[in-house]
Amino acid sequence: MELQLLDQQERLDQLSRTDSLTQLGNRYQFNSLFPVMVANAQRQSQPLSLVLLDIDFFKRINDEYGHACGDSCLSVFAERMRQNFRRDSDTLLRLGGEEFGILMPNTPLEQARVLAEQFRQALEREDFDVPGATLPLTASLGVGCYDTQRDNSAEGFFKRVDDALYQAKAAGRNRLNLA
Ligand code: GH3
Ligand code: MG
Ligand code: MG
Repeated sequence: MELQLLDQQERLDQLSRTDSLTQLGNRYQFNSLFPVMVANAQRQSQPLSLVLLDIDFFKRINDEYGHACGDSCLSVFAERMRQNFRRDSDTLLRLGGEEFGILMPNTPLEQARVLAEQFRQALEREDFDVPGATLPLTASLGVGCYDTQRDNSAEGFFKRVDDALYQAKAAGRNRLNLA
């Protein structure tokens, strides 16, 4: 009985941390994991990289093809993230709407940049096959590595990468910008 309850508890925990559409970690998962990973990186002097992604012009997809098609695109997007970011230590997240993130412990900036750029190019190269449509889809990315000199806190680090993503949007989208 006790083991059954523990098992059930674990499954509920898992469920509360998972985005149901994409099966990626959700914002709640990110909020509980991110400060811990930053603290670990600091303590162990290990590089922690963060990639933030936002799908370009996603509103148009919903407007032109409908919300269900938009949802399909989001789950295909997640699948393609899983194909590209394959290491067990990578945490793949849907942070909200059409915004995603990857937390990469023990990963220096250059390594994160290469993987993220590879993902951007794969999106650009291959259209999205969803029920009833095949459509092109790109994303803008910000990539950064935690820096004790520069980042006063986990929030500061997040903001630096988010600003880089914003600049990638402003510079024309479908591009990667280093924080
Ligand atoms: P930008 O290139 O500036 O990022 O443009 P955008 O259209 O992607 O950005 P905007 O923030 O204007 O719109 C985001 C859209 O994402 C609007 C919203 O309808 C859609 N969206 C958010 N969450 C979901 C979802 O769960 N399902 C679907 N189908 N659409 C979603
Ligand atoms: Mg957005
Ligand atoms: Mg967008």
